Amino acid sequence: MSTDKPAGVESYNATIERIENVADGLSIFFIRPDAPIPGQLPGHYVSIGLVDPTSQKLIRRPYSLSRSISPKQDPKLLELLVIRVPEGELTPILFEQREGDRIFVRPKMVGTYLLPELDTDTTMILLSTGTGVAPHMTMLEACVTTCKQVVMMECVRYGAELAYAEQIRSYAESHLNLTYITLVTREGGNKRYIQDYFRDGILVSEHGVSINADHTHVFACGNPAMIGIPKEDRKTGALSFETSGGLVEILIEQYGLTIHKPRVPGQIHYEKYW
Ligand SMILES: Cc1cc2nc3c(=O)[nH]c(=O)nc-3n(C[C@H](O)[C@H](O)[C@H](O)COP(=O)(O)OP(=O)(O)OC[C@H]3O[C@@H](n4cnc5c(N)ncnc54)[C@H](O)[C@@H]3O)c2cc1C
Repeated sequence: MSTDKPAGVESYNATIERIENVADGLSIFFIRPDAPIPGQLPGHYVSIGLVDPTSQKLIRRPYSLSRSISPKQDPKLLELLVIRVPEGELTPILFEQREGDRIFVRPKMVGTYLLPELDTDTTMILLSTGTGVAPHMTMLEACVTTCKQVVMMECVRYGAELAYAEQIRSYAESHLNLTYITLVTREGGNKRYIQDYFRDGILVSEHGVSINADHTHVFACGNPAMIGIPKEDRKTGALSFETSGGLVEILIEQYGLTIHKPRVPGQIHYEKYW
């Protein structure tokens, strides 16, 4: 999160070309920078900013880049799936913008939530809550065309928030190595969370997914409660989990996976949104 020194609308360097309303307070923003931003890799994010009309300050926040499967979009357009946080600083202003309005985009692709080298033995598991599906949309095609098996799981509050479900389902029909699982938590019925699928071995028993350190990568993006990020003791490297039962803890303890770090490659990759 960053609130810059006064910088006004003169910093605006991009146009909101199109806004697709997905559900109440959830939209896809298609933004065209005046100059294309080079170097995008699947999983990258950008920072966008708008001037707060009250404080006159430029409020900036990071957003993962997303990518619709169909119709195919102009690769120079930045696609962002954003949920409005009513008490937030930037999103209430963002949701007042209209197509054609100007906006600031930091002209740099950023992030370390990036795909490892993929091969035909790889099982790729892409897990998200809410708008955390965005970076996985940029990864999906590369994974499906190379990996042996791809599992994409999304957990949202209401079914209407599954922004790309139709596209993903139709893609899965023609790509049989892709399994797509959706979980909805606030529409009644049996509440199941992503972690349950790993804790109870459901992915293995019901979906035939094999999970092991030799060929599996797990990407998890969104709500920190789903991910369950541990604290690491700097001296000993020992991990401690503030709340137990999170995904990372289960993947380490039940499946023997390790957290990926730039210098110590592992199989668990995560991006937390707050
Ligand atoms: C690397 C990265 C990528 C991100 N990508 C996306 C994205 O693709 N789409 C997206 O909508 N957001 C994304 N976020 C979150 C985004 O940067 C903002 O934090 C969010 O949009 C809220 O901004 P705000 O200024 O309105 O609220 P703020 O004033 O920043 O936050 C108010 C509070 O809202 C809560 N909050 C933040 N984000 C969410 C959320 N998504 N759902 C529910 N509560 C939240 C937090 O508790 C936060 O303290 C990403 C964050 C990071 C770090």
